[in-house]
Amino acid sequence: MQRNIFSSEHEIFRDSVKRFVNEELVPHHHEWETARRVPREVWLKAGAAKILCCDLPEECGGAGADWLYNVVVIEELAYAGMSAPGFMVHSEMVAPYILTWGNEELKQKWLPLMVSGDAIGAVAMTEPGAGSDLKEMRTRAEREGDDYVIDGQKTYISNGQNCDFILLACKTDKDAGAKGISIVLIEANREGFARGRNLEKIGLKGQDTSELFFEHLRVPVANRLGAEGQGFKMLMSKLAQERLTQAIRSICVAEAAINWTVDYTKDRKAFGGTIADFQNTQFVLAQLSAETTALRVFTDWCIEKHLRQELTPVEAAKAKLLVTDLHCKVVDQCLQFFGGYGYMNEYPIARAYIDARITRIAGGAAEVMKQIIARDLFSRAG
Ligand SMILES: Cc1cc2nc3c(=O)[nH]c(=O)nc-3n(C[C@H](O)[C@H](O)[C@H](O)COP(=O)(O)OP(=O)(O)OC[C@H]3O[C@@H](n4cnc5c(N)ncnc54)[C@H](O)[C@@H]3O)c2cc1C
Repeated sequence: MQRNIFSSEHEIFRDSVKRFVNEELVPHHHEWETARRVPREVWLKAGAAKILCCDLPEECGGAGADWLYNVVVIEELAYAGMSAPGFMVHSEMVAPYILTWGNEELKQKWLPLMVSGDAIGAVAMTEPGAGSDLKEMRTRAEREGDDYVIDGQKTYISNGQNCDFILLACKTDKDAGAKGISIVLIEANREGFARGRNLEKIGLKGQDTSELFFEHLRVPVANRLGAEGQGFKMLMSKLAQERLTQAIRSICVAEAAINWTVDYTKDRKAFGGTIADFQNTQFVLAQLSAETTALRVFTDWCIEKHLRQELTPVEAAKAKLLVTDLHCKVVDQCLQFFGGYGYMNEYPIARAYIDARITRIAGGAAEVMKQIIARDLFSRAG
């Protein structure tokens, strides 16, 4: 499909990202899946290739590029079937929080290091007892003079093993529900911080995902992002970008999976012809292609709105809900045409199938997306 959102400069950048992905990531992805993490040098190489946090302003060490450069990076990683490294959390979640709400000192210290790949960031919201319902989190930040003393536990944290710092969502007022949540930047070398297990997942195997523990950890109040008690609001406003980012990834995987399947079925012989000769194959792929094109148009429309800072949380929820659902359907139906080969890890379709499942859970479960959309629908007057 002809897309109109990118300029020729974006396409030149795309070529360099594609080269980086093919030379530096694709050949090692299987090793990282086995090791269940990515070596730090890869982050440094990505920094040198200028593909981390592309849109950060020059005064923060970035290229001052528009967000479409970030989109190009997300897309090329997705088209190549790369589920690791965890660049998306780093560039699309952590950096925007610091840029928007960090004080000058935090910005000057961390953002240039994030651009160069010298520092890896994580965001810790989820706890063993609180995921979708974040206001129930129990990690506590008790004020003592100019410090907070933090106690609590997080789980499922992407980049949890590799990170140099964490944006921690915690309760600065335990009785104020969502209004008692703040976000504090915690350096990983602080006393009282411990990493738990690198969790064993069914997919996204190259990404490290961890439990994190905080025990009487003392951190200056100056490490807080934004005002005290505003954390929930901050999370909700940035979650729209995270959800759109997921939709961008998912639509690319759907497009790639259809292409892999067309190529494979044209080659694979059966019953005197090819698998592609069956009308069933053609009709199933035609249907998936039509649905993917429709959601590609919607996703690009959301990207354009986001560039104008007009994308609403409801629109982002709609994009995540529909595109991740289609993503899962496409990889499932495409895998079927690969037969037994589709069940073998060496085939991208097999990994895409396993990696797809998380998209309907993380960053807000599908049901939570429906809740956001329904709340908007039913709150309208008349
Ligand atoms: C690989 C991976 C990476 C992750 N990375 C991070 C990270 O970097 N940082 C971070 O903070 N978290 C991260 N998470 C956590 C993720 O965001 C949560 O798993 C997700 O928000 C769901 O929370 P939960 O697992 O506690 O499920 P629960 O909240 O227990 O929900 C379970 C299920 O209940 C249903 N449900 C929940 N709420 C509703 C509702 N309102 N209406 C109807 N049904 C509902 C849904 O079916 C949902 O899937 C990650 C998780 C995974 C698996």
